[in-house]
Amino acid sequence: MNKKTVRDVSFQGKRALVRVDFNVPLSDGKVEDNTRILGAIPTLKHILDDGGSLVLMSHLGRPKGKPVPEMSLKPAAECLSDLIGKPVKFVVDCVGEEVKAAVESLKPGEILLLENVRYHEAETAKDESCAAFAKELAQWGDIFVNDAFGSAHRPHASVSGVTEFLQPSVAGFLLEKEIEYLVNATSNPERPFVAVLGGAKVSDKIGVIKELLPKVDALLIGGAMAYTFMASEGKDIGSSLVEEDKLDEASELLIDAEESKQNVMLIPQDHVVAEKLEEGIPSEVVRDIPDGMMALDIGPKTRDAYCDWIKKAKTVIWNGPMGVFEIPPFHEGTEAVAQALADSESLSIIGGGDSVSAINKLGFAGKVTHISTGGGASLELLEGKELPGLTSLTDRD
Ligand code: ADP
Ligand code: MG
Repeated sequence: MNKKTVRDVSFQGKRALVRVDFNVPLSDGKVEDNTRILGAIPTLKHILDDGGSLVLMSHLGRPKGKPVPEMSLKPAAECLSDLIGKPVKFVVDCVGEEVKAAVESLKPGEILLLENVRYHEAETAKDESCAAFAKELAQWGDIFVNDAFGSAHRPHASVSGVTEFLQPSVAGFLLEKEIEYLVNATSNPERPFVAVLGGAKVSDKIGVIKELLPKVDALLIGGAMAYTFMASEGKDIGSSLVEEDKLDEASELLIDAEESKQNVMLIPQDHVVAEKLEEGIPSEVVRDIPDGMMALDIGPKTRDAYCDWIKKAKTVIWNGPMGVFEIPPFHEGTEAVAQALADSESLSIIGGGDSVSAINKLGFAGKVTHISTGGGASLELLEGKELPGLTSLTDRD
């Protein structure tokens, strides 16, 4: 990576302003899932061990520019304190006099968490107010550290805005790891390189498909988006989901794949269908989708074909479930893919909120190489787009 990281600077006697991703689910005023807070610990410990103090900022939810008590970061302060074994101070805002006093009294080794940056409209604003707000935030640190991969695709005040006013700006370990896996694995993959793409909409992933198709040995399509591809070939899809306005692009991609000798693109050859989406509803496996039936999962032949590719692969990227895995009996395709990934020795990278939750639900998290923490950010990286949260950091000399 050509950007400075926390390893390239000394935090001795310095205050580090760290953008973390503590956008965690809460219930009854407590953190329900601490994965994201745990993910930040290596960076935070590194800075404290190096003699620095920490001013942490994050967003939580979408409070739309005003304080919403249910989206307070206070529970995250308590959770972090338990995980890191130290007190974590908390202030009820992220700018202003009270914050200034709290920041100035901070000693090396101490931690302060600021309240939700999205309580201020300027955090996400597309006008000058965003830079003015960023300038206020930037006062709280001597060094800026971005470790919030999940927000790295947003040009927000606390993500990229502060870097205009605070240098050096460096990457934390989490951000560095995400970039290394996602960029390096796709730019110079060990082959065969297989991408498994599924999920709800073609429109979400068409950019990724276009970017990955010329790079992969095989691109395996599942999920609802498979039916837009099938419809674009004139096949019957019954009442399965389809995006009419993506038919032309889908058809072009299939033609590109057909013309290329290296890049195979597979769409499902059999399907699990039902009259409607309902738990426990009678389902059947079909090759051709009958009128009035909805395809809700890939069928067993497709499952086997996809798993064979995964077994052969040396590098696999998976984004998006193969079917409606939340509702049995439409979970089998997704589970088979997850199992094949867990069993394989390949470099495996999982991205996308729902695919990650499928992997976690099955208990396979420890059996894959890398689980990306950022849904939108990982898709934009895979699309080859530049992330403001990364490009704004200080270059390596
Ligand atoms: P990810 O979060 O992993 O990127 P998406 O958000 O794109 O995935 O898509 C996940 C959703 O797609 C799930 O809620 C799943 O139920 C739905 N889905 C998958 N296959 C189908 C299908 N055949 N028909 C309808 N919905 C589907
Ligand atoms: Mg999703």
